[in-house]
Amino acid sequence: MGLKWLRGVVMVSLAWCGVPSADAATIIHAARLIDGRNDEPALQMTIVIDEGRITAIAKGYQVPGNGDTLIALTEHTVMPGLMDMHTHLQSQHSKDTYTERFFMEQADYALRSTVYARVTLLAGFTTVRDLGDNGVNSVALRKAIDQGWVPGPRIFTAGKSLATTGGHADPTNSLRGEYRRDAGPLEGVINGVDDARKAVRQRYKDGADLIKLTATGGILSLAANGQNPQFTYDELKAIVETARDYGMTVAVHAHGTEGIKRAVLAGVDSIEHGTFMTDETMELMKERGTYWVPTNMAGEWVAEKAREPGYFPEIVRPKAAAIGPVIKETFAKAYQSGVKIAFGTDSGVSPHGQNAREFELMVAGGMPPMKAIQSATLEAARLMKIEERLGTVEANKTADIVAVKGNPLENIRLMQNIVFVMKEGVIYKQP
Ligand SMILES: [Zn+2]
Repeated sequence: MGLKWLRGVVMVSLAWCGVPSADAATIIHAARLIDGRNDEPALQMTIVIDEGRITAIAKGYQVPGNGDTLIALTEHTVMPGLMDMHTHLQSQHSKDTYTERFFMEQADYALRSTVYARVTLLAGFTTVRDLGDNGVNSVALRKAIDQGWVPGPRIFTAGKSLATTGGHADPTNSLRGEYRRDAGPLEGVINGVDDARKAVRQRYKDGADLIKLTATGGILSLAANGQNPQFTYDELKAIVETARDYGMTVAVHAHGTEGIKRAVLAGVDSIEHGTFMTDETMELMKERGTYWVPTNMAGEWVAEKAREPGYFPEIVRPKAAAIGPVIKETFAKAYQSGVKIAFGTDSGVSPHGQNAREFELMVAGGMPPMKAIQSATLEAARLMKIEERLGTVEANKTADIVAVKGNPLENIRLMQNIVFVMKEGVIYKQP
């Protein structure tokens, strides 16, 4: 894999320098093509890729031209690169999570995140949103990946999540006196509309692509309440309005009903988790076109760890036990309701690279496999407003393509065994 990856980087670098690369295309023969848009797969298709783009798609197995590279995926299902709308590449939860910040340098975080980025890409996820780090690590990681220094998915990052004082993403919760300082907008902690605007502008200055905020309590923070509303409507409105000035979307962590409602009314783009969504909030989301990013995996993972004595601090454990299992029931109801769903896992809570387990949980919750795959491709691209160039396997799109052996429409667990990964025309994994 190393060599192929290096060759890809060299090719890309040559292209940047304006040196013409050999004018040869890559040809994929796909037994089954799920293009991200059509509800039925197409059989025996040829996909032509040139200079990082899909240039043509044709029926049947077309014969490659002189010098073209043929990739025969004739026992496989070919799909658009997968997209996970909720990851945290800076970390991966363990018993040490609450203390490591006293021992880890920013460089340690950054270097470790390259490992998580690599396994995420090799699991077939060519694009992710990073919804919260401790500052700008994910911005640095995005740069390292874009520059070709390390392999990883295309990242759209929120940088540091926004919270109110004592809220889910206040970095000083529960610390002893001298550490429990009054963090401000620079660190993403806001109180009032002026702070709200400043915190958004700070994220823009930091290089973030979008805004993440924690509209209600959460499970893993060192605070008592896992679902109370933590922003006023006016604060939420100010964040959304300011984010729009900078072309940013707004992703909102929310478990409790009131926080979800305020955020949807304020015009945010997605509700993450949405554990206690009611019929009323679902209707409101449909009306406003708000996406829901379910993160079933996070619910499953925290519920499981809550059963393990001593794993979580005592302030976290009851929240994990009470809130974690609810997402599953919410998913079944929400899918039936017709709320727009974009795929997301909260990986970094559960281990990185296992993202595709979410497909299995979605299908168990009543979503057809094809819809689950579309939620991780075209629907995710729509949420990020990048559907012009990504999210489907169609001519003129960026060549992000993955494949599994066999038919995931018959066995969704196959999604957990991605055997081919191409990102922007560069192959990172193949059978
Ligand atoms: Zn999260």
